[in-house]
Amino acid sequence: MKGKKRGKKHVCLRFLSFVLAAALLFSLAACGGAEDGSGSQESSLQEKESEAEAAEKAQLAEDEANGLFLLVNKEHHIDADYVPEDLEPIRYYASDRNANSRYMRAEAADHFHELVEAAAAEGIDIVMTTAYRSYEFQEILWNYNVSEKGEEEANKTSARPGESEHQTGLAVDLSTSEIDYRNSYDFENTAAGKWVAENAHRFGFIIRFPKDGTDITGYSYEPWHLRYVGRTAAADIYGQNLTLEEYVEQMGF
Ligand SMILES: [Zn+2]
Repeated sequence: MKGKKRGKKHVCLRFLSFVLAAALLFSLAACGGAEDGSGSQESSLQEKESEAEAAEKAQLAEDEANGLFLLVNKEHHIDADYVPEDLEPIRYYASDRNANSRYMRAEAADHFHELVEAAAAEGIDIVMTTAYRSYEFQEILWNYNVSEKGEEEANKTSARPGESEHQTGLAVDLSTSEIDYRNSYDFENTAAGKWVAENAHRFGFIIRFPKDGTDITGYSYEPWHLRYVGRTAAADIYGQNLTLEEYVEQMGF
């Protein structure tokens, strides 16, 4: 009898441990449920990321259609009769320069104004010296530079007519009071030059001819020459330390 009782107790204990195990399994399953919860959080994060990627792609497609990635250099010339349709006057300029160049395409002009105002809020003064240059003005400028420096020297820093992206209405040369509003390599070391190098991309601009890009761009380093490409591309180009030539190739534009 005792044995039987012990047997019953044994069965009872086994049943109890079964119940405990089941409870444990159930709570583990509940944990699994919690894990499923974080899993769905993860997938919604992925959804958000792919939504952001899609938005970025759509923005780049819009910017491309809007001509913001127009490549003009010694190999890609721009038509002599190309004149942007939406040129707008620039508000902040060095007053001793040609008034005909105080224009940029509307979107670029608006963002340039934002850039200048953001710098001013930090006590830094930035003005444009030249922005839009017509084909005719490029001719005058090129001929002048050749007569001053000779063709070989002129070709390093100035563009032949049709080779200047200033004709796109998307480029702007900058200066600041610290260097008496000159276009100079000294711009790099001014408060304005340092600010521009760090912040221009936030307003959709890139330093078009970077220090180590001469082999690709065909131009010497120009810390004062900015090119508008829109915020999305500017952030990419700044982040990856690319030239516009490399970016256009990478994106297949
Ligand atoms: Zn320039």
